[in-house]
Amino acid sequence: MTQNEQQLEIKKQILTEIKKWETIIIHRHERPDPDALGSQVGLAELIKTSFPEKMVYTAGVDNKTLAFMATMEVPADEDYEDALVIVVDTANQPRVDDKRALDDPQRLIKIDHHPEEDKYGDIQWVETSASSCSEMITEFWQTFPEDLVLSDEGARLLYGGIVGDTNRFLYQSTTPQTMRLAATLMEKDFSATALNNAMNEMGPKVAQLTGYVLEHLKVSANGVAHIILTQEILDRYSLTDEETHAVVSLPGSIAGVYNWGIFVQQPDGTYRCRLRSKGPIINEIAKEHDGGGHPLASGANAQDLAEIETILEKFEQAAIDFQKQVADE
Ligand code: AMP
Repeated sequence: MTQNEQQLEIKKQILTEIKKWETIIIHRHERPDPDALGSQVGLAELIKTSFPEKMVYTAGVDNKTLAFMATMEVPADEDYEDALVIVVDTANQPRVDDKRALDDPQRLIKIDHHPEEDKYGDIQWVETSASSCSEMITEFWQTFPEDLVLSDEGARLLYGGIVGDTNRFLYQSTTPQTMRLAATLMEKDFSATALNNAMNEMGPKVAQLTGYVLEHLKVSANGVAHIILTQEILDRYSLTDEETHAVVSLPGSIAGVYNWGIFVQQPDGTYRCRLRSKGPIINEIAKEHDGGGHPLASGANAQDLAEIETILEKFEQAAIDFQKQVADE
């Protein structure tokens, strides 16, 4: 069987399960980004529109800054008693938002585009070549045109997820297939401009933080950039940890920067490390520091400043290796 045939087989199994269950609960990862919400609630919309008699719930904590995308319809404990659980966009079990998903579910399906570190679930559909989990859900819809109907709202959510994870179709993960699928979504009746504007917009606090980051960012001779956002800085701009998402891609727009980290201090004194790259592979480094993710977009946790130093040393080496590799090609 070719890889495509295998993937089709898995998609057919997923459709069969969706048809079989009356109650379906969809989870995604903690601290959701547009792709987590887009794929979660986009899939919920797809199921609701295609099978209006089913009960479909979405679990997890709302992200207030992304309320324009979607909010949750959280299930009660008893809803899990006879339900299909689908977890989207979540590579490993510890990152699942609302662990009831893993509490001995009747049937569990994993749908994800991250490198496969944790093989959980009765059925796993993992496509690391997909730009986003929202792209996978869009492809799922397109694979079964006779069974599945997507509403305009579903298309808006999936489109938002693709835009979010590709940074507006800028990242290397954007393929011709991404564009084809995004185009099918755009044919639905929603305003992509309004959605893009909402995703693009920043409040005055984030605008100030942007200024702070650009002014205080440290860039090494090898092209490694970093900044530490202490609790004091977050307090100064009245920002939550989540809102720092808005500045994560910023250092990448500076010429000569290859890989970078935004280190956000947590109330307990540890640091959430938001790691990004334009070339050097960084997810292996993230894994060594209680994290993981994609080759060019990862997250980790550092206990203290010394651990941040260690991560930065590894980033320096990755930047050097990458530049050498490019020069040799
Ligand atoms: P973030 O900077 O939190 O937006 O994370 C970027 C990407 O890194 C996410 O899409 C996840 O794939 C991954 N990631 C972040 N934090 C972790 C973690 N603690 N463990 C594993 N993967 C993570």
